[in-house]
Amino acid sequence: MTHIIHRNPRTPLATAVRGLGSYLIDHEGRRYYDGSGGAAVSCLGHGHPEVADAVIAQIRTLEYAHTSFFTSEPAEQLADTLVRRSPPGLAHVYFLSSGSEAVETALKLARQYHVERGEPGRWRSIARLQSYHGNTLGALAAGGHQGRRRLYQPLLADVTHVSACFPLHYRRPEESDDGYGDRLAHELDTAILEAGPETVSAFIAETVVGATAGAVCAVPGYFRKLREVCDRHGVVFILDEVMSGLGRTGSYHAFEQEGVVPDLLCLAKGLGGGYQPIAAVMAHDRIVDAIAGGSGAFQHGHTYIGHPVACAGALAVQNIIERDGLVQRSATLGRYLQDCLRERLGGHPHVNDIRGRGLFQAVELVQDREGNRVFDPGLQLHARIKRTALARGLLCYPGGGTVDGVRGDHVLLAPPYTTTQEELQSAVDILVASIGAAIAEVRD
Ligand code: PLP
Repeated sequence: MTHIIHRNPRTPLATAVRGLGSYLIDHEGRRYYDGSGGAAVSCLGHGHPEVADAVIAQIRTLEYAHTSFFTSEPAEQLADTLVRRSPPGLAHVYFLSSGSEAVETALKLARQYHVERGEPGRWRSIARLQSYHGNTLGALAAGGHQGRRRLYQPLLADVTHVSACFPLHYRRPEESDDGYGDRLAHELDTAILEAGPETVSAFIAETVVGATAGAVCAVPGYFRKLREVCDRHGVVFILDEVMSGLGRTGSYHAFEQEGVVPDLLCLAKGLGGGYQPIAAVMAHDRIVDAIAGGSGAFQHGHTYIGHPVACAGALAVQNIIERDGLVQRSATLGRYLQDCLRERLGGHPHVNDIRGRGLFQAVELVQDREGNRVFDPGLQLHARIKRTALARGLLCYPGGGTVDGVRGDHVLLAPPYTTTQEELQSAVDILVASIGAAIAEVRD
């Protein structure tokens, strides 16, 4: 009997008792390869002694000081580190405790930016379908995932959703990358014009789509075109790299591969690598300058922002990523993982796509590749694969269904950057077997 409100009260959970490298160990001594890093969190794997030491040392020195009185050394150093590794201009950091808080904070920063510039009427946000930005009510309203939103309608804010860039399913047969990008930029332009540019505060998008659609990358040039539309209308351009940031896609920031720099950037999972609950919003000079030159203070705050222990843990994680060349390792191992997946699953009759960047890869499954028919969403194929893989010692992150225009089921892999080729190879073996077993189950 548990007193915790678990996600699915009818499904008992194993108790995790230990984490070691790429593995988690449960109360019965079973080992699981953490092929999804939880939910793309554990970038350094588990039980890294240097991070543990940094956290303990910080607790012994200073465990907490409220940010209305003090800053702290680990928070300052972590902010310096993030800024040093980011393009010029993206020079300000606001720390939080979760990805949802980071999204809420970015949306508020955008709104205050407009207020300070004498445009208080800019309150609307525009986001994309097939997106996920968090579970607090504001972030949920921004997300385009109907499955997660349905129960909570009407949501707090009425957010307009435009199409995501999902070339596999939504690019027209005659369309080039450029033509597809132009069409989507035109759609955003139209949405802003219809809402009235003087009412639009921000546009938010995941640079690489994670949980809802599974490692979906945009076509080249897409984000540059969208940035241009936002600039033309004075709309703040927010990228959500809560899942895809900090080395996950093989570059420190995922946007580096898109040739754009956002006005606001949301970071979380890979920041603390699971060692501490921590998130951040990075803000461009132009946002902070407007606030500094206006009312002078960002009207925001939570009790645990800039928590010294969380920052010390994250600082250790980021220093190790840099020292050990783990961004490059994510890029190299990501290519290896994608090759393994293609080799083993490329010709599979139910595998429609293998995609992703760095150690952020997904396999999409359909009932019939030729007709592109998906499995009946009621069969929950992705959840069955997760269960089957779990029983075989692999953690992977499932998603799918036909809600919200997501087509088919997918499984996301996001292992630690410290993993090895051998571990990836055996994870792919388990995944292949689990996909086979789950498909056999739904056929019976
Ligand atoms: N944004 C994206 C892109 C995410 O993937 C997530 C979580 O999966 C969030 C925001 C919300 O983060 P959190 O669960 O830490 O609130």
